[in-house]
Amino acid sequence: MAHRAASGWPGVTAALAGRLAKLDLYHPRDLLLHLPLRYEDETRLTPIAAAQPGFAAQVEGEVAACEVSLRPRRQLVVRVRDASGTLVARWLHFYPAQQKLLASGRRVRLFGEVRAGFFGAEMVHPRVRAVSAEDGLPEALTPVYPTTAGVAQTTLRRLIDHALASQPLEDHLPDDLRRTLGLPAFADALRLLHHPPPDVPASVLEDRQHPAWRRIKFEELLAQQISLRRAYLARRAKTAPAMAGSGRLVRALVDALPFALTGAQRRAWAEISADLALPHPMQRLLMGDVGSGKTIVAALAMLQAVDAGWQAALMAPTEILAEQHWQKLAAWLAPLGLEVAWLSGSRAKRARAAELARLASGELRLVVGTHALIEDPVMLPRLGLAVVDEQHRFGVRQRLALREKGGAGAISPHLLMMSATPIPRTLAMSHYADLDVSVLDELPPGRSPVRTKLVSEARRDEVIARLRAACLAGRQAYWVCPLIEESETLQLQAAQKTYAALCEALPELRIGLLHGRLKAADKSATMAAFAAGELHLLVATTVIEVGVDVPNASLMVIEHAERFGLAQLHQLRGRVGRGSAESVCILLYAQPLSPAGRARLKVIYEHSDGFAIAREDLRIRGPGEFVGARQSGLPLLRYADLEADADLLEAARQVADTLLRDHPSAAAALMARWLGGREGLLRA
Ligand code: ADP
Ligand code: MG
Repeated sequence: MAHRAASGWPGVTAALAGRLAKLDLYHPRDLLLHLPLRYEDETRLTPIAAAQPGFAAQVEGEVAACEVSLRPRRQLVVRVRDASGTLVARWLHFYPAQQKLLASGRRVRLFGEVRAGFFGAEMVHPRVRAVSAEDGLPEALTPVYPTTAGVAQTTLRRLIDHALASQPLEDHLPDDLRRTLGLPAFADALRLLHHPPPDVPASVLEDRQHPAWRRIKFEELLAQQISLRRAYLARRAKTAPAMAGSGRLVRALVDALPFALTGAQRRAWAEISADLALPHPMQRLLMGDVGSGKTIVAALAMLQAVDAGWQAALMAPTEILAEQHWQKLAAWLAPLGLEVAWLSGSRAKRARAAELARLASGELRLVVGTHALIEDPVMLPRLGLAVVDEQHRFGVRQRLALREKGGAGAISPHLLMMSATPIPRTLAMSHYADLDVSVLDELPPGRSPVRTKLVSEARRDEVIARLRAACLAGRQAYWVCPLIEESETLQLQAAQKTYAALCEALPELRIGLLHGRLKAADKSATMAAFAAGELHLLVATTVIEVGVDVPNASLMVIEHAERFGLAQLHQLRGRVGRGSAESVCILLYAQPLSPAGRARLKVIYEHSDGFAIAREDLRIRGPGEFVGARQSGLPLLRYADLEADADLLEAARQVADTLLRDHPSAAAALMARWLGGREGLLRA
């Protein structure tokens, strides 16, 4: 963001500007919204005799002694005396200037946490200031700002005070709206937070529920909503093929399915089908827990596109998943006389060249693939619908790139994104406000819930014995190898070791190994053998995390489960419980558990509903981590908290539309204030 570095910023050297940039401060106006983390109460003096250990206090007195002591280590030891008693202050690092400031007989004010020392009250590294008898106390709480190395609080305070005095603080919320919402004016809220009056207790401010805080948080949420809504409306304004179709292919597939669609599938399908018939690009997220049946909904959408004379593409994040989708689609669609192309990085060049030519001519209408789909040679001139499965696995650019494969110039294809990572409602309302959302909140019938067991690594042999019995009784199982995030090589070695150990322990079982480094042909052969029931046990890395669907597999062991994230555990566990047999997921964990690892295992043990798990995940990790916001380019919220401020979010959503419609310049000003140059990062 160097392009936004301060130019002509009075009183700021280039070096300081560089450090301020680390705090995302590029302009005096950014300082206004750099709000205190907490406050220190320097409005009062505490008599030394009344200073309580464990609390911060400000004392004032005369330096009675100042010496450098060498034991237990070199330090500056200063005794300060007031009318009530004496306090010892210590500095382990100090400069000659400090020694001078603290010379015997000087009058000083110290602020710091009081400790009980050997000789009574002590402070270590207090803040110190020379005062004269007529120096009054500040009237307001002292703000403490988030900072970085080399930027002193006093510097920040000076710059911020200057900004408050020199920058415009206009209120972009129309007065009537502001009053209806019961929020204070922007300028008042901002001044209060930077310089709270003496009668506002620090605790009320630090809870961030004071009306001034609510005003700021509301504004932040509003700016976010405005930018997302604007992006949404801009894309809605583009032209897309209206693909109503005759309904013939869709009906033929629905009639041929061995099952009836669930109510949730029918509802989602109706929403998608209606969108596809409109001449504006759909931008819809189909969200449904693992196993809720998103693939068939995507297939129906693709058929509607084909029926209307357009092409449809489905992109999946892994080769295994893409191939599985391809097989499924091909099996469903071959009876309808439709061919599905299959593109992956590892397909032989010649096979690819032939398919690419038929896609480019528009003769082939359907294609499934991995990232290979968005590579250069692929051309889909009649692309009417792009489907992205497990959308969170792709970056913004990749999702955009698929849509741009359509060659029809001014025409944008419709976009359907699918995600099995359920997004809690508040998060969906904020970070996904630029998408329409359909939810599959119902699992197909006949699924038996997965029983989850937490088993200590010490009981591994029992688990293996159980695995043997289950497999010999005709069941199939997955063994998920430990996650080693730091190194793919170590991960591979661990998988091979586990595989060898299990082969030795279970000679009577047929066991396969699946990991990311296998050749594509070997991967798909192993997957096919497992799906056909030729293997009892599939030892695998997390390559099976997404989408793998083998209904007969009803037992899963996850080794070192404490290392996995919650979403990942939920996804992995979702590989079983897909058939009618009672399924079990055994989470093997190694002692000692970290607090975070323990918390995750508890959540996954107690919850089977993906939404509940996502909510807990959001609570444990916070929204930034949760949506992978940094990679996805979403603007992060600095002050508002999605759960605590859900009411503000709701209000911001409504006000955003009102402002965009009736006060577009206020909407633009709000966005500039909060998002500055970052708006361009918005997701496709
Ligand atoms: P996900 O939402 O996790 O992608 P899938 O689309 O892979 O789920 O579907 C999971 C399994 O459920 C598949 O075997 C699929 O054929 C099956 N399925 C989908 N819809 C239904 C339904 N309405 N009734 C029964 N089985 C269904
Ligand atoms: Mg899926």
